[in-house]
Amino acid sequence: MCGIVGYIGNRQASPIIISGLRRLEYRGYDSAGVCVVDSEKLKINKKAGKVADLENGFDLMALKGTLGVGHTRWATHGVPNDVNAHPHTDMSGSIALIHNGIIENYLTIRKKLVNAGYTFRSETDSEVLAVFIGMLYDTIGDLETSVRTALSEVEGTFGIVVVSTYDPDLLIAARRGSPLILGVGTDEYIVASDAAAIIAHTRQVIYLQENEMAVVRRSGYVTKTIHNEETSGNIEEISFELDQIEKGGFPHFMLKEIYEQPITFRDGFRGRLRIDEGNVRLGGLSKVYEQLSTAKRIIITACGTSWHAALVGEYLIEQLARIPVEVEYASEFRYRNPIINPDDVVIAISQSGETADTLAAIREAKTRGATVLGMVNVVGSSIARETDAGVYIHAGPEIGVASTKAFTSQLCILTQFAVYLGRMRHLSADAGREIAQGLAEIPDHIQTILDQSESIRQIAQQYSGVSNFLYLGRGYNFPVALEGALKLKEISYIHAEGYPAAEMKHGPIALIDENMPVVFIAPKDEIYDKVRSNIEEVRARNGQVIAIASSRDSRISDAANHVIYIPETLPMLTPILASIPLQLLAYFVAVDRGCNVDMPRNLAKSVTVE
Ligand code: GLU
Repeated sequence: MCGIVGYIGNRQASPIIISGLRRLEYRGYDSAGVCVVDSEKLKINKKAGKVADLENGFDLMALKGTLGVGHTRWATHGVPNDVNAHPHTDMSGSIALIHNGIIENYLTIRKKLVNAGYTFRSETDSEVLAVFIGMLYDTIGDLETSVRTALSEVEGTFGIVVVSTYDPDLLIAARRGSPLILGVGTDEYIVASDAAAIIAHTRQVIYLQENEMAVVRRSGYVTKTIHNEETSGNIEEISFELDQIEKGGFPHFMLKEIYEQPITFRDGFRGRLRIDEGNVRLGGLSKVYEQLSTAKRIIITACGTSWHAALVGEYLIEQLARIPVEVEYASEFRYRNPIINPDDVVIAISQSGETADTLAAIREAKTRGATVLGMVNVVGSSIARETDAGVYIHAGPEIGVASTKAFTSQLCILTQFAVYLGRMRHLSADAGREIAQGLAEIPDHIQTILDQSESIRQIAQQYSGVSNFLYLGRGYNFPVALEGALKLKEISYIHAEGYPAAEMKHGPIALIDENMPVVFIAPKDEIYDKVRSNIEEVRARNGQVIAIASSRDSRISDAANHVIYIPETLPMLTPILASIPLQLLAYFVAVDRGCNVDMPRNLAKSVTVE
């Protein structure tokens, strides 16, 4: 998920690698490391913290060698510490590997290796791959074949670079589900996860394809599939400038992150969904299985966007598992002497895992004897460490202050959690299968919505001058109305309110006139007709209706001024899809108003104060 740089050529590798890693710092990471092949030895320096920390008390330039790798890690398996940082080596210390992504079956492979006498230093999935390659090398005696053989057994995603003392004229790079680019210079090659680390040296690049690898020597390279079939490896010219590359060609991180959602959502269920069994495997919860199967009540505590995700979670868990759920603002929970019983399960949701109020809330819950779980994005964060168990959402680093991809990833986890709890109780395998199948289809549906962004931009431009917005939804989509309004407030500074649609007549209807845009989340579900009546009520008062509707809803355009269609899915999954156009709407309104969408005024990404 984070940064990779590798170098082979005739210049000193370490300065090139360090400057490449600095170019990748904008992505966010928690640790960094470098390895240079110095004739007989691998010289490694790796640390938790920033690239600059690598230099503290260590002269990186003393790493002499013209072959090497560097990495910035965004931890997924094992806390961010020096040992878990990359590169990792095989047991003999002769092969070094850097890895972005997740090796899903690392536990199975690790077990096999342990039985064969191999040992590990770190908690990472990546070290398992390094040791596995080393084990294969011990019998095969050829690095490329060992890498290929290992990769053919690996499930999950990887962008890897491997170097070794066995052959100081060889660098191997391979990818699946994680980007990797080979920069082709004169008698030198730079491989990186992002063109930003390459552009200072060459603009000639090969974008490695899925399951493709590059076998690189100073005299030349071949590209092939990991099944050893040669590929054409077309050289292309980087046409972007540095600034554009850092944002993946997008004008803002927020838009980049909105567009990442087909991938990040999939990362949230990758290796977890068991469609055949109609179930979900959440390894991080196995040690609290007993408590979860007997839980009498669930309390979810969170702040901001995570609190909205929690509200959707309440609907999902009560529907699928029939366990009473309460959702509490963490800031309120911690100060109001809450009633907590030992058979309650308290769940904290936080993107950063450092939110001060949420952290305080779980400490309170723990002292009162509840089982406490975390759902966070940042591995090894305070909430992850202080909870009894948890599930990582695996959304990758989120740079834009307004949360987008983390929200949909939280919904991905909450849906799976609800299925997991439901299957422990009375949810049938068939019902579980239908939801699991529905989740698996969501990434493609998100893409379909993203493909309509131009028409959403046009709608946004018509309303960027207004002072107020209203967002209405019911059932599963009431929290989405809250989140849509929050997104708009955060980045465009337009006042916006979210309400359950039926509450409109108890107050907000007084605001409706021809200047008031009202966003309705109105997918075809069991309460569609009710929402439809609410739309008519707004139209009767000349309000401007923007409807988020199901693609098969042919009648909605009669009542709404604008319609944004979302693909068909199960009603309980519509919050995920409906939130995408609302993110885009807020984004385009804010851009049209000239706001700094990535760093809105007064807001911080990680709220570590009360
Ligand atoms: N899964 C690996 C780890 O946790 C790689 C994470 C990354 O992509 O940076 O170490």
